[in-house]
Amino acid sequence: GEVLVRVEDVHKHFPIKQGIIFKKEVARVHAVDGVSLEIRRGETLGIVGESGCGKSTLARCVTGLHPVTRGRIEFEGTDITTLSKDGLKRFRRDVQMIFQDPYGSLNPRRRVGSIIGDPFAIHGIADGAERKKRVQELMELVGLNPEHYNRFPAEFSGGQRQRIGVARALALKPKLVVCDEPVSALDVSIQAQVINLLDDLQDELGLTYVFIAHDLSVVRYVSDRVAVMYLGKVGEAAAVEDLYGTPRHPYTAALLSAASVPDPDEAERAERIVLTGDVPSPIDPPPGCRFHPRCPKARERCVAEEPLLTVKGADAPDHVAACHFPVEPGERLAREHAAIEQ
Ligand code: SF4
Ligand code: MG
Repeated sequence: GEVLVRVEDVHKHFPIKQGIIFKKEVARVHAVDGVSLEIRRGETLGIVGESGCGKSTLARCVTGLHPVTRGRIEFEGTDITTLSKDGLKRFRRDVQMIFQDPYGSLNPRRRVGSIIGDPFAIHGIADGAERKKRVQELMELVGLNPEHYNRFPAEFSGGQRQRIGVARALALKPKLVVCDEPVSALDVSIQAQVINLLDDLQDELGLTYVFIAHDLSVVRYVSDRVAVMYLGKVGEAAAVEDLYGTPRHPYTAALLSAASVPDPDEAERAERIVLTGDVPSPIDPPPGCRFHPRCPKARERCVAEEPLLTVKGADAPDHVAACHFPVEPGERLAREHAAIEQ
């Protein structure tokens, strides 16, 4: 499909400063450290990785909430990293976010009608009866009762509160919606409802989604393509069936193995690939391949030379991975130690 967003070599570093009067940078967190990817119109791009891998920071860069340290982000061909204040305000109408915490992101003292109407207020669109009408249409669109316009967030269930967040995000008819762990805080029984709602809305409104989550089964269910991040970089990206069916990066293989439903069958359990150690600090990422300290396939070359993202799928030009010694189909990786924490 047509490219909606092109992310080119984006870096986002957060300086760590010390000193009382003269603040001096003593280190930097390489939260996003050279990411290139594209988001195609109408698709859902899943982004997965352990906490601290940079997926949320990358999402905030794409929405313009974080200025990037280096790199380009093109939205419909325009580089948003160089937009003026006015340009950025216009861009923000096209790109919205849905957050993880439907409790924390809604002001408890405000009525939901007014919360959902925020984007109209911010952009000076529709007021009075017209705004109320539009807000009630949005409430209906996301499956809320429009009569509950004057209620407070506490009067809604967790799933309904996430619907309020969805309604607010859709108020300005965005082109791209970045969903950052949108169902992680919800009961499992409610997760499917919200996911199905997002899916229906995507078809109905022609939305493009970036869907960030650590839950691989949710990402598999919603995504067309998936990018796997590790320590600020994309390790692998592919169409969902290729990524889950034939992972090439050892990290992806390990993540999938750790996430597989534990089977009472002992043989099945022995297949779980396991990674030693914690994710290293993003302040001082390991040289070469930054996954090498935990990788069951690491060799000398992995320490000396950083692997670049290259095509790894036999008949899938979209299947890319950054690895010198990619997992071969059917290959068994070492399997001991503790699984990756999900
Ligand atoms: Fe493992 Fe080496 Fe591949 Fe990195 S480049 S994932 S260390 S095999
Ligand atoms: Mg879809």
